[in-house]
Amino acid sequence: MNLKRNVLLNPGPSTTTDTVKLAQIVPDICPREKEFQDIMAPMREDLVKIVHGKLEDYTAVLFCGSGTICIDIALNSLLDKDKKALVINNGSYSARAVEVCHAYGLPLIELKQPLDTTPDLTLIEETLKNNSDIGYVYVTYHETGSGLLNPVKDIGALAHKYGAFLISDTTSAYAMIPIDVYEQNIDFCMASAQKGIQGMTGLSYIVGRKDIIEASRNFPVRSYYCNLYMQYDFFERTGEMHFTPPVQTVYAARQALIEYFEEGEERKWERHQRIMAAIRAGVDRLGFKEVLSRDVQSGLVSAIIYPDDPNWNFDKIHDYCYERGFTIYPGKLASKGTFRLCALGVIDEPDIVDFWKVFEAGLKELGVKVPVNYD
Ligand SMILES: *Cc1c(COP(=O)(O)O)cnc(C)c1O
Repeated sequence: MNLKRNVLLNPGPSTTTDTVKLAQIVPDICPREKEFQDIMAPMREDLVKIVHGKLEDYTAVLFCGSGTICIDIALNSLLDKDKKALVINNGSYSARAVEVCHAYGLPLIELKQPLDTTPDLTLIEETLKNNSDIGYVYVTYHETGSGLLNPVKDIGALAHKYGAFLISDTTSAYAMIPIDVYEQNIDFCMASAQKGIQGMTGLSYIVGRKDIIEASRNFPVRSYYCNLYMQYDFFERTGEMHFTPPVQTVYAARQALIEYFEEGEERKWERHQRIMAAIRAGVDRLGFKEVLSRDVQSGLVSAIIYPDDPNWNFDKIHDYCYERGFTIYPGKLASKGTFRLCALGVIDEPDIVDFWKVFEAGLKELGVKVPVNYD
């Protein structure tokens, strides 16, 4: 089989290996067979190991859905009655978490913070101090819309100091930036197979503290389909997902995990950093400006401001690159026109060098002046 290789610079799904793509082609199987459970059991353990959890403390619970399902499940399942959620809102993904809380009518303290700098820890501490009924603190590890890296370790330490636990949406960092749940004070994190592990869409997982999940058995059940304890309990008793799993995506994830451990945490993170260095080299060479200062960036997303040039047209440059095998992505910041280049997936420095050649040729074709101009 000869598949065209596309270089995806959008924030997931990402470029995958052919071996992961082809791992989906398997004989038909009923997922209630033991053969299929034998795939998911070690997968749950591997997903805990990726964030250095000990299996006696942490477990992984798999779900059929995109990454947002984990935001929904964690928020709605882990809030005890008489407790409040505290959500640090400093980007489009934490804004999504706030919307989830509203959808369930959860008692919520929303701490709105600037989108382009790390949140105010003093304010977070004050809030925790003044509200002893906060059950959990929720923070996005890496805000994929802007590229902002949050100080999760510090926020987790504050949560623990005031008797709350920490939920972090690590979807766009997990299996990319090395994460140690103990060091980072993370009680719950989450991801989706299409991002860090370089698998396919449709499988997502929450990695979290077993004792808290066990305790959540007595928390209010706010959703029938999206409930953490119910899915955990079903896995523990039967080795299966409660409802039909994304069978082929699970096979792809098994192969992706083999390839993840073969590459290794450190080497993989070095590769992501190499990709980002190549992205930044092009940004600088062509005179583009980024939304965030680099010292607060995750190093996985570059959010670039549209230049002030009458000939600049994002859709046209997108199409020019897309026709040549490179996918770029619009931004997620309402205030400014931005686009994003992301260092996810099975790509490396030479792909970015090739990308910038195509992108620069596209700018020439559009008649955009290089280096680009800002008023
Ligand atoms: C990708 C991503 C998600 C999941 O988004 P879906 O559209 O459901 O795939 C959640 N959180 C963050 C931070 C992400 O980057």
